[in-house]
Amino acid sequence: MKILLVEDDLGLAERLRRAFAEAGFAVHHVVDGVEALYAGQHLPFDAAVLDLGLPALDGVAVLDRLRGGGSRLPVLVLTARARWSDKLSAFNAGADDYVTKPFETDEVIVRLRALIRRSTGHVRPELECGPLRLDTHDQRVTVNGEPVALTSHELRLLTYLLHHQQRTVSRTEIMEHVYDGDAERDSNVIDVLMARIRRKLGAPLIHTVRGAGYRLAWHPGS
Ligand code: CA
Repeated sequence: MKILLVEDDLGLAERLRRAFAEAGFAVHHVVDGVEALYAGQHLPFDAAVLDLGLPALDGVAVLDRLRGGGSRLPVLVLTARARWSDKLSAFNAGADDYVTKPFETDEVIVRLRALIRRSTGHVRPELECGPLRLDTHDQRVTVNGEPVALTSHELRLLTYLLHHQQRTVSRTEIMEHVYDGDAERDSNVIDVLMARIRRKLGAPLIHTVRGAGYRLAWHPGS
C-alpha cells in the first residue's frame, strides 16, 4: 500500500513518513500543490494525506482538480484549519476524511487503513483468503492460526495482494505499490520477494498467471 504524502512542513513530513513506514506503508512525499496534483494524476497510490495550506497551489484546489479529472483516490485532509467552513469546502471538493492538527499519528493511520479498506471493497479490518489472515490493525499475519513472520516489504506486498485478491496484479503494479518514491526497479525483485512469501506461507495461495502477474486466491481441495 502506497501513500501520497503532501506536506510542506518538512519536520512533520519526516515524522509522518517514519510512522507510515512503520505501519507498513510505502510513502511518496511532495511539498507543494503543483507536485501533489501531478503525482495524484500520474502515479498510482492507495490513498493520499493532503495538507491544505501549501505553496504553489492550495490543497482544496488540488483536490478539486483531481476530482474534476475523475480521480477516485481516497484523500484524508490533514490540516491546521479547524473551522467548519474549511471542512465544508474540503468535503465539497472531494475529501474523504478530515483530521485537524495537532493530531494523533495513530488515529491518522487507523483512518487511512479504513479508507483504503473501503475503497477496495473490504468491510472488516481483518483480511482473509482461505487459511491466510491479516489483521490490519496490528499487521499480524497467520496461516491456519500460526503466526508468519514477514519483512516489511513482504508484508506490504502481501497486504496489497489481500486487498486485491481474486484479481491478477502485474509486477509493475506491485512494484508501484510496494516501494517508496518512483525509482525504477528490476521486476525480478518482485519474483524473489514472491518466492520468499510463498515459502513462508507454505500454502498454495499465490498463483502465477503467465505473462500477466500474480493472483492471490484459495481453491480448497486443489
Ligand atoms: Ca502547510
